[in-house]
Amino acid sequence: QVETLKEKLLEQAQEISRLRSELGGTDAEKHRDLLAAENERLRQEMKACEGELRELRRQQQQAPCRDCPHLQENTGLQEQLSQLQREAEETRAKLVELDLEVQQKTNRLAEVELRLKDSLAERAEEEERLSRRLRDSQETIASLKSQPQQIKYIIKTVEVESAKAKQALCETQSRNQYLQEQVGMQKQVLKEMEQQLQSSQKTEAQLRAQIMMYEAELERAHGQMLEEMQAMEEEKNRAIEEAFSRAQVEMKAVHENLAGVRTNLLTLQPALRTLTHDYNSLKRQVRDFPLLLQETLRSARAEISQAIEEVHSTNRELLRKYRRELQLRKKCHNELVRLKGNIRVFGRVRPITKEDGEGPEAANAVTFDADDDAVLHLLHKGKQVSFELDKVFPPQASQEEVFQEVQALVTSCIDGYNVCIFAYGQTGAGKTYTMEGTAANPGINQRALQLLFSEVRGKAADWDYAITVSAAEIYNEALRDLLGKEPQEKLEIKLCPDGSGQLYVPGLTEFRVQSVEDINKVFEFGHVKRVTECTNLNEHSSRSHALLIVTVHGLDRSTGLRTTGKLNLVDLAGSERVGRSGAEGSRLREAQHINKSLSALGDVIYALRSRQGHVPFRNSKLTYLLQDSLSGDSKTLMMVQVSPAEKNTSETLCSLKFAERVRSVELGPVSRKAELGSWPSQEHLEVPKMLLGDSPGSAAPPGRGHASPSPGHLSSRSASIRRKLHTSG
Ligand code: ADP
Ligand code: MG
Repeated sequence: QVETLKEKLLEQAQEISRLRSELGGTDAEKHRDLLAAENERLRQEMKACEGELRELRRQQQQAPCRDCPHLQENTGLQEQLSQLQREAEETRAKLVELDLEVQQKTNRLAEVELRLKDSLAERAEEEERLSRRLRDSQETIASLKSQPQQIKYIIKTVEVESAKAKQALCETQSRNQYLQEQVGMQKQVLKEMEQQLQSSQKTEAQLRAQIMMYEAELERAHGQMLEEMQAMEEEKNRAIEEAFSRAQVEMKAVHENLAGVRTNLLTLQPALRTLTHDYNSLKRQVRDFPLLLQETLRSARAEISQAIEEVHSTNRELLRKYRRELQLRKKCHNELVRLKGNIRVFGRVRPITKEDGEGPEAANAVTFDADDDAVLHLLHKGKQVSFELDKVFPPQASQEEVFQEVQALVTSCIDGYNVCIFAYGQTGAGKTYTMEGTAANPGINQRALQLLFSEVRGKAADWDYAITVSAAEIYNEALRDLLGKEPQEKLEIKLCPDGSGQLYVPGLTEFRVQSVEDINKVFEFGHVKRVTECTNLNEHSSRSHALLIVTVHGLDRSTGLRTTGKLNLVDLAGSERVGRSGAEGSRLREAQHINKSLSALGDVIYALRSRQGHVPFRNSKLTYLLQDSLSGDSKTLMMVQVSPAEKNTSETLCSLKFAERVRSVELGPVSRKAELGSWPSQEHLEVPKMLLGDSPGSAAPPGRGHASPSPGHLSSRSASIRRKLHTSG
């Protein structure tokens, strides 16, 4: 065992020495030294390059050239140069870094070697100790061999001790193994370092190539710069020569100019003298200017105030004339109305409707004259009766067409006139349709208010207007407020206490309206009231008069003139004669009231137009209420509604007769008579008794209620009369 241990130890020692020679550190160290030397050489080269560069720059500064065309190129080159320098600088920094790395690696190598040496020394010591013990053991064995008695004992001890030796050997072996591992590790590190060294050598070679390239570049730049400098020098010389010759020429011209200026100066001196003189006189004027200005302003002010005064007085005069003119106009208008007659009678024939039924009863009994829109013919009991009104609207006439004919009346309300528009006719003849219309196709009421609004807006620059609306109903001679809180309350018509003779209805609600929306609300309100009050609105409304009273108050801001106009829109109760059917009780009373009030209306109109001293306004609530809208220079339109159906012909006949009666008094008996006096045959113009009524003045106006021999003849004649009347009006 001891032998083998010794052998192993020897082997280990050999291995260690081999490793040491292998490691040696000599190659790496050599490499490092080589690199260091190379670095040093490169540094030297760099310094030489820098020196050269400085020299070049100095040369350039000594011979600077301005306005040189190559200056730009030169600066470009310089920039390139500095770029190269920067790059060289960077390379240098990299080199230093590499140096540092190599240094670090060398240090680490030295450390590793040191550690290796230490471990080798330890190992030698251990070997020494073991060999000593071996020797001791051998000696002991020898002595024991000589003492056989003790041998066994000693062998035993040796056996025991050999166990210890074994253990020590084991330890040594493990230690050996550790050292071997260490050596392996060191080898690894060495390999890595070699690799690093190789890579740094590669980098170095690259750097060197770069430096070589830079040097070549530098060389080229230097050559270029020298060439350019030479060219610049030549150019400079040339430019100097040119400038010199040019300067000589210019100098000559300047000399010549100078001579000219001198002569000019001589001539300018007298001009300067006159200018100075002028300036002095201007200065004096400026000094005097404020005084002059004040004086002028004073006189101008006086003139202006005089002119203003004159304008004022002219204005006053104009205003006076304007007022006089207004009064004159009104007078003229009144006169015109008086001459023309202020009652117009229109007829409107509704279309045949489903309610008229079918068969001969629903046949059309009304025809029109193609050439005259004021004539209509009614076929009654086999006879044709012709009527002439102011205008007749056939069934196809639209609401708009009807309104076009009445809108002049409506607008005169703004000028301060009172206007009444009545819808007259039997129930179902279209009174409500004409006055109220439908939501999609409104009638006169709504269109009139719309027109009033737009007219008022148009005059807003000079006038202030206030429009108010009231709605009332007359049923059985009782007046009720349709917009009030107490619709059942009977209202009274009273004389104004101010002694003006005007009438008013205390408690009648008035709404101020400013827009179409307002009116719609008012209408809606009134309608709702009426519907809730009556069990059968249609029946009720046909037996009562519905009034919409629109009042327009105007104020002319410039003259202070005030106007008040009233527009009364009346949907009259049905004009059909009830008495015949033998009605009784309340129905009879209603019929009596209606008959009374309608004939009172006829009487009043008749009395007004025939200019009777007494006009029976008080005979009915309706005429009494409308007294001031029917008298004076008021205007009235009677819209007589008729049904064209065969079954209604007798009522249609009555309505048309009423219309003609009202119309016949319109122009007054005298002028009418004169016109009609020239007619060839008066026998045909028989006056029906029922039209004349019992009024004393009624004998004069001849109606044409009976069959006419020739409608064409009649219509052309009546048209000619109307034309004459129009021109005289
Ligand atoms: P009144 O008020 O005279 O009793 P209405 O105005 O109620 O009569 O008319 C009776 C019917 O005839 C209504 O259905 C109405 O719509 C219709 N009507 C009246 N006139 C015309 C017209 N010109 N065009 C179309 N329909 C009409
Ligand atoms: Mg009606």
